[in-house]
Amino acid sequence: MSAELLDGSGLAKRLKAELARDAAAFAAENGVIPTLAVVWIGDDEAAAGYARAIVRNCKGAGINTRQETLGEHATQQDAERAIDALNRDESVHGIMILEPVPDQIDLPRLINRLSPVKDVDGVHPANIGRLVSQRPPYFVPATPAGGMRLLEEAGVEFRGKRAVVVGRSDIVGKPMAMLLLHKHCTVTIAHSRTQDLAALCSEADILCVAVGRAEMVRGDWIKPGAVVIDFGTNYSDDGVQGDCAQDEVAQVAGMLTPVPGGTGPMTNYMLLDNVLRAAHLSTEAFVYRA
Ligand code: NDP
Repeated sequence: MSAELLDGSGLAKRLKAELARDAAAFAAENGVIPTLAVVWIGDDEAAAGYARAIVRNCKGAGINTRQETLGEHATQQDAERAIDALNRDESVHGIMILEPVPDQIDLPRLINRLSPVKDVDGVHPANIGRLVSQRPPYFVPATPAGGMRLLEEAGVEFRGKRAVVVGRSDIVGKPMAMLLLHKHCTVTIAHSRTQDLAALCSEADILCVAVGRAEMVRGDWIKPGAVVIDFGTNYSDDGVQGDCAQDEVAQVAGMLTPVPGGTGPMTNYMLLDNVLRAAHLSTEAFVYRA
């Protein structure tokens, strides 16, 4: 058997073209371009590279970006003031805080300060609560939202299926598990202390892996015909590798997201989708405020 590869690049390209038209229509109707503020605190090079990638991504979809840069010696108070100003600024629709932040910054406290209706990363406790209890409007973190969209477009059946999510981070593993639960899967979340991970994975009809360990999941961990979402993005001199041994897994799975070209482009698209949604929320007469 050779798995059907779920083409995230192609889907994201098509959706992004549609979104660019919607963003232009929003701008024409409201006289304001959907705008994302990227908050970069410190001097971390990975964060700077990510900021550049976000700017490029937004540019291609007619979404404005604004970079708010605070130096490596910025205090908690400086950072909170910057967030407060962006919350108040009506020309800013979405805000994302780049990680990592310097040690003196209390990131959870800063996230609590974000306006939930501008929290396009879906990390504010109000958005997490809304996701758990299915009370829209909320922002779902872009990576699991993109993974779900790929599965939906591929026509995957969810109801009653056994799903295993490996990884329990707030931005990938946990929200992915919630989304699968809402689709009526029976969900198990695995992590670094899980016993006999291979046996657990081999029971999954839908297996989602977000660990950050190149090629950890092997072909013989996979139930024949299973749907496998590989969120892993592990860079080495050989390029980028997933958390699954892709060649092996493709021999057993029914569907598989390739790395690269699977979940990564969908994450980029979903961030844009969240910014446009935030722009629409800003025009509504009543929106939830913390
Ligand atoms: P985190 O480091 O925050 O979380 C990793 C999770 O994996 C933790 O829950 C950890 O368990 C678990 N884990 C670590 N080692 C093992 C192991 N040996 N067996 C089982 N579980 C293990 O990572 P993220 O969730 O942020 O990212 C995960 C992967 O997804 C990375 O490769 C990252 O690059 C990628 N990623 C991809 C994106 C995309 O667009 N495709 C976007 C964001 C991330 P514990 O909690 O017990 O420590």
